[in-house]
Amino acid sequence: MSLSPQHSPASPPVDGARVAALVRELLVELGEDPDREGLVDTPSRVAQWWKSFLFPDQSATPRCFSEDSIAGQLVLVGGMSVWSLCEHHLLPMHLDVVAGYVPGDEVVGLSKFGRIAERHAGRLQVQERFTRQVADEIKALIGSPDVVVSVRGTHLCMSMRGVRMEAARTTTLQAGGRFESDPVLSQQFLTLSTSTWRNS
Ligand code: ZN
Repeated sequence: MSLSPQHSPASPPVDGARVAALVRELLVELGEDPDREGLVDTPSRVAQWWKSFLFPDQSATPRCFSEDSIAGQLVLVGGMSVWSLCEHHLLPMHLDVVAGYVPGDEVVGLSKFGRIAERHAGRLQVQERFTRQVADEIKALIGSPDVVVSVRGTHLCMSMRGVRMEAARTTTLQAGGRFESDPVLSQQFLTLSTSTWRNS
């Protein structure tokens, strides 16, 4: 359980009118005229965007794919690509997620993985916590600690401000169960997840 203040499905919905009013105020503070033609609908558009970011449509099926690479040992789910917002700068970060697990009796439906990634991306985040939260939820879903999640992030707060390293990528890894104790399995995951990224 995370102790950081974050919304849950039980959180109150975003007050769109209030957010729009605040965005309008922000525009004024930034020296803009919120009544000029290009900006007139901006506050309501931004408010609408925050709503859909924080409460994504979970009925849409996210894109992802799986490779049963080593039959009976490792299932790799890749291609999960989500946008989140860095909590330090409120700037976007793009996260490429690859998950691996060792299936028990049944293989979990692919779309569930994509939804888990989307749900944890739809809040103010840091990449390390996102990686851990996705791994924890997959563990709970499959009922086993044999889960590994690797995330490659592109952070606009690194590319468009500060050090301005456009090509910088941050990789995080959360490994549990056999992925921690079995070097062969762990190496298989790393090799396969790297090739997934190369192809994307
Ligand atoms: Zn940042």
